[in-house]
Amino acid sequence: MNRNEEISQNLNAVSERVMRAAEIAERDPGDITLVVVSKNFPVSDAQVLYDLGVRHLGENRDQEGALKSEQLPADTIWHFQGEIQGRKIKSIASWADCIHSLDSLDHARKFDGAEHLSSSGTGRNKEFFVQVNLEPQRVDRGGVPIAELDEFLHILFSETRLAPIGLMTVAPQNMEPTKAFSKLQELRDDRVTKYPSLAGLSMGMSGDFEAAILCGATHIRVGSSILGSRGLAV
Ligand SMILES: *Cc1c(COP(=O)(O)O)cnc(C)c1O
Repeated sequence: MNRNEEISQNLNAVSERVMRAAEIAERDPGDITLVVVSKNFPVSDAQVLYDLGVRHLGENRDQEGALKSEQLPADTIWHFQGEIQGRKIKSIASWADCIHSLDSLDHARKFDGAEHLSSSGTGRNKEFFVQVNLEPQRVDRGGVPIAELDEFLHILFSETRLAPIGLMTVAPQNMEPTKAFSKLQELRDDRVTKYPSLAGLSMGMSGDFEAAILCGATHIRVGSSILGSRGLAV
């Protein structure tokens, strides 16, 4: 089986699992965006995905995303879900359409000041998710701690032009995915009246996206189930 067929089969299998989970959740599958995480895979794989109809690709590193986005057609929508470094923000803002990992007000202000805020090269509005850390004991983890979320959102909405489209999380390893995802859903539900733009939920990866769909995920970020194991690289 060549790489093309391999990716095609895996993509079909994931798409079918998404459809089945949506059916069980009694949700419209059209409300669930599959972001295929192409990090650590060559641009040729990203092109294969594009040719198979995938338009949402996710990257964790600025340099890799910048290189790939240059080589794929302009209607590809690029997602960034990696750790954000302040000095990379100008560059990230130049190619990424949707940032899933915003967890710092300083970074938010830098994105606000970046010239590409209102539109990326393709003319689309830039979108943001606020990443939430569901593990209060792990401050080394990315994400805004739950206890700081309300103050974070208050300042974000009142002092920047960013209007995040939802909350994002990575399910902690020591927590049942369903418990983590229903917690994020509850955090969103409790705040969406005050902040109507905050309607989305970016959650669910290869190992747990069905659970995420059952808890209302609007964006799932799936890499290895489609492209295979990333090996030693992280
Ligand atoms: C790598 C990564 C993914 C994709 O993970 P898989 O297990 O390969 O599906 C999703 N979200 C984030 C934040 C990631 O870093």
